[in-house]
Amino acid sequence: MFLIVTKQHLAAALGLVLFVAALSAILWQGTARPVFRQQGTVTRPAVVIVDPGHGGEDGGAVAADGTVESSINLAVALKVEELLFLTGQETEMTRREDISVYSPGAETLREKKVSDLHNRVELVNGMGEGAVLLSIHQNSLPQAKSVRGAQVFYNENAGAEPLAAAIQQAMNQAVNAGGEKSHKAIDGSVYLMAHIDCPGVLVECGFLSNAGEAALLKTEDYQRKLALSITAGYLAGCASVK
Ligand SMILES: [Zn+2]
Repeated sequence: MFLIVTKQHLAAALGLVLFVAALSAILWQGTARPVFRQQGTVTRPAVVIVDPGHGGEDGGAVAADGTVESSINLAVALKVEELLFLTGQETEMTRREDISVYSPGAETLREKKVSDLHNRVELVNGMGEGAVLLSIHQNSLPQAKSVRGAQVFYNENAGAEPLAAAIQQAMNQAVNAGGEKSHKAIDGSVYLMAHIDCPGVLVECGFLSNAGEAALLKTEDYQRKLALSITAGYLAGCASVK
């Protein structure tokens, strides 16, 4: 009998090591100064709102085979929520199903989209002080199909940038090897990120316009890897903010 170690096994092991390392950093950092709110000796936001972007009629970006961004966003977001739960972090989701969260009365697609975004802002801002938003999306750049990789964006509220930096670093190690990216301040036109009162980090997990990456993004293994690196980065970010 031979033990066959595949690339995926190694990648999974690496992800796990990264996650445990970040977790240990948190658990053993008894003197961490509070970022948002201190829970015992662990510095954490009061609640992390995990936001799977789009949903329902609004599928977001679309891959060549018709796969919509919203379904991948939801799959990754639910895994992030599960991992955060395991670390003792209180969480909230903007949606748990393939739905758009618009209010009754919205009729056209445009009205539904506007109402959906308003409702997400209301939910985030209703969480009160000490909340953090983690918004999960997929990218697309049809005019440059070779572009791939995960990139992390942050809004202008205090605490967002260092969290984004840590998540970007974790994702560079986990899924961007050879094509590392830098975290970036988000464009003011992204409604949700511009209108929330708390730190917001938006993760573009990969490019649906890249055939190879789109195929990966659809697999549960890769989604788990993404969720693991987002969570590990988030934990490291909480530990690093002074
Ligand atoms: Zn999107």
